[in-house]
Amino acid sequence: MDSWDQAPAASALEALLTATLAAEVHGGPEGAADALITTGGTESNQLALLLAREQAAAHGHALHVLVGANAHHSLGRAAWLLGLPEPVTVPAPAGVLDPAALDEALTELPGPPGGFLVAATAGTTDAGLVDPLTDIADLCAAHGARLHVDAAYGAGLLFSDVHRAKLHGLDRADSVTLDLHKLGWQPAAAGVLTVRATADLDVLGHRADYLNADDDTEAGLPDLLGRSLRTTRRPDALKIAVTLKALGRAGLGALVDQVCDRAREFADLVAAHPGFELHDKPAISTVLFRPAGADDDHIAYVRRKLLTDGTAVLGRAQLDGRRWLKATLLNPHTRPEDLVALLTLVEGTSPR
Ligand SMILES: *Cc1c(COP(=O)(O)O)cnc(C)c1O
Repeated sequence: MDSWDQAPAASALEALLTATLAAEVHGGPEGAADALITTGGTESNQLALLLAREQAAAHGHALHVLVGANAHHSLGRAAWLLGLPEPVTVPAPAGVLDPAALDEALTELPGPPGGFLVAATAGTTDAGLVDPLTDIADLCAAHGARLHVDAAYGAGLLFSDVHRAKLHGLDRADSVTLDLHKLGWQPAAAGVLTVRATADLDVLGHRADYLNADDDTEAGLPDLLGRSLRTTRRPDALKIAVTLKALGRAGLGALVDQVCDRAREFADLVAAHPGFELHDKPAISTVLFRPAGADDDHIAYVRRKLLTDGTAVLGRAQLDGRRWLKATLLNPHTRPEDLVALLTLVEGTSPR
């Protein structure tokens, strides 16, 4: 996809898909919200900061970004890439962005309202926690700050009737990062950035006569250049649209429910086992645990041992000053007996 004549079907399909996903996230009147297809959460977050920077610039302000201490590393990197000051880090003592601390930071930061972007998280990388979105949206409204929500991991909860309420307030964000190669079961790349107001995307407008000449655009040919920072790109909308069409909301929601149920079962298994310590009940489908009494070096050793033995691939996370083993359950075909077997494997990994 670089111009309509190269990819007419993909262009039409992408327009339908982005409109559908934008309405799913932001609700509101038809055509008010919009979305772009990206390569993933990292690019979506970058674009979100770029749109915020340009909006602030249009009002004569420099942009200051505020992120929770629990935010994804790509936000700080995006600020660096875009030549923005290093983001202000707002404490997240319980794993989620603290609204009182955010209020304080927004009050104390020098600069006019309209120059701030708050980036919250729905589905943190380490624990899958969702920031208090409604409180944060209220604070952003009160302080005139723009709100971005990085829902790369959590946005899939929108498909589930059971879990959707965990994202209450998401629709109030100005922009939202989705990553359908996580809870969406797409092969990479399947990133999305939604915006509440389609006019936000105007700043991406760009002309190249051989791709989107004014007279072609005026004659009604879709203009792809303003819908990505890339020129040629793969039609990633196709596989996403096929999945949505084949499974529907109910089908995807069932898969979300399934992995959340499996995570809860695994957490229960860990909690009931005297040889293990559970970090907390899973917020989405991530379970953090560690062998009871083990030190951090042993946690790292267990992970590497299982990896090099070729028996299991566990993640790791540094949280509350300690290292944890991390099981991010995203495969709906995982069976309860697989989880029992996993725990047995970890149990059998004693230090050298
Ligand atoms: C995965 C993730 C990202 C990065 O997404 P990529 O697709 O790997 O670029 C950003 N933010 C959060 C919260 C994530 O979970």
